[in-house]
Amino acid sequence: MKILLVGAGLSGAVIGRKLAEAGHDITIVDSRSHVAGNCHTERDDETGVMVHVYGPHIFHTDDEEVWTYVNSFTPFLPYKNRVKTTAKGTVFSLPINLHTINQFFGRAMRPEEAHAFITSEQADTSISDPQTFEEQAMRFVGKDLYEAFFKGYTIKQWGMHPSELPASILKRLPVRFNYDDNYFFHKFQGMPEQGYTALIEAILDHPSITVHLETTFSRDQADGYDHVFYSGPLDGYFDYELGRLGYRTLDFERFSHDGDYQGCAVMNYGEESVPYTRITEHKHFSPWESHDQSVCYREFSRECGPDDIPYYPIRQVDEKALLAEYVALAKQTARVSFVGRLGTYRYLDMDVTIREALDAADGFLSASSNGGKVPAFFVDPL
Ligand code: FAD
Ligand code: UDP
Repeated sequence: MKILLVGAGLSGAVIGRKLAEAGHDITIVDSRSHVAGNCHTERDDETGVMVHVYGPHIFHTDDEEVWTYVNSFTPFLPYKNRVKTTAKGTVFSLPINLHTINQFFGRAMRPEEAHAFITSEQADTSISDPQTFEEQAMRFVGKDLYEAFFKGYTIKQWGMHPSELPASILKRLPVRFNYDDNYFFHKFQGMPEQGYTALIEAILDHPSITVHLETTFSRDQADGYDHVFYSGPLDGYFDYELGRLGYRTLDFERFSHDGDYQGCAVMNYGEESVPYTRITEHKHFSPWESHDQSVCYREFSRECGPDDIPYYPIRQVDEKALLAEYVALAKQTARVSFVGRLGTYRYLDMDVTIREALDAADGFLSASSNGGKVPAFFVDPL
């Protein structure tokens, strides 16, 4: 069969590869001048440092099959994300751990003491079922830590007060009563030695895959193909006819530095008075490389306009209602499946993106071999 994939990010590449291996003829279009979507990495001209062009990306997963999959295309080296945050003129360790708590309160508590202190003197235990980000923070760490590390950062990141955001956003971050400062829990964590674009180029390297860059999809291009996998924005497929799904976009302000600027890859800024959310110093993502010069990005978050790159889906009540309308339209569209973070309007980590892409390709192969209908969605975006 002839299959068109829109988007040469992880979703398009993984689905394309699996269908090419099953004997299908794959064409992939992407409007950008490079593959890899938002995971794209490239060497900085001035410093030679590998840069995460669309923001810091750390690979972490518990899915052994996904880990084996990525490692089969390109070598990964061990990398642990150890984030720092600047607040009240001091640098603290994130996620909140025993070091953060002891430093913040000027104490030397052991794990049980710190746990008892946070629970009895800080946390608002009257909140039994936290619904909002703010309630979740007040319930689990209390006002002081919430205001220092989360409140200002979240207002900058989301353009909304934490009382308007769901608790699920904060639940992504653990609180630890030991000195483990690894940002993630996952069993497998690492960084592709040559960057993510090398990974995605290797996935796309198959004789039955043709990639056309700087090619923006329009619906009439689907003629002549048996099926389309669309990993662009769901509302964009329908020319935004019902309105636009809300996203946050990011602006990156680049600067270079002689030597080491901040001593770590990611430094967050918890205070609202600092206009950016974080500074990424890219050379620390490749600790096996040696660079005298350094390149950093200050990261600013704002509302996504029509010409901006959509980064974080907002998924508030209004967006979810609009999403439901687009999902209904998509389900009436024949021979198109909507995939990936934009096609399903969800925040997806890379490992989940790959898992869903592998499953979508399997779903397509089994439906098409049984003469069954290929679904518009392989996971429910709602
Ligand atoms: P994308 O990467 O967005 O690819 C979609 C592609 O489709 C793009 O290349 C786009 O140009 C193309 N396209 C769109 N519309 C059209 C059209 N009409 N015509 C042609 N082409 C089109 N995940 C992690 O696991 N770890 C992290 O540390 C991490 N950090 C992140 C940091 C930030 C700031 C963000 C925003 C995301 C982060 N992620 C991270 C998530 C990761 O970026 C996604 O999992 C991944 O990019 C999803 O891949 P995708 O192919 O679905 O989407
Ligand atoms: N967050 C915060 N302060 C920080 C880091 C994170 O308030 O220093 C909040 C913020 O609202 C963010 C959420 O916690 O959106 C989840 O953090 P994560 O690091 O997962 O953010 P992402 O990777 O989505 O940027």
